[in-house]
Amino acid sequence: MKKHADKQLTVTDPVCGMEVSYKTAIEEFKYKGRTYYFCAGICREKFEADPEQYLRPHRQHGLR
Ligand SMILES: [Zn+2]
Repeated sequence: MKKHADKQLTVTDPVCGMEVSYKTAIEEFKYKGRTYYFCAGICREKFEADPEQYLRPHRQHGLR
């Protein structure tokens, strides 16, 4: 039986979209009972400033 645990060790940085590993994630931030992981402090700071912007399923980049 092959284990498929590897994929569960990575999370997506909600700010830049990069995949980060739980083990190597530098920054984490708890928001509404969930923990989010970030590749760098700058990403966490952006998230902290406006979490809702990054938690929307479909991000909007201004109006078209
Ligand atoms: Zn990032």
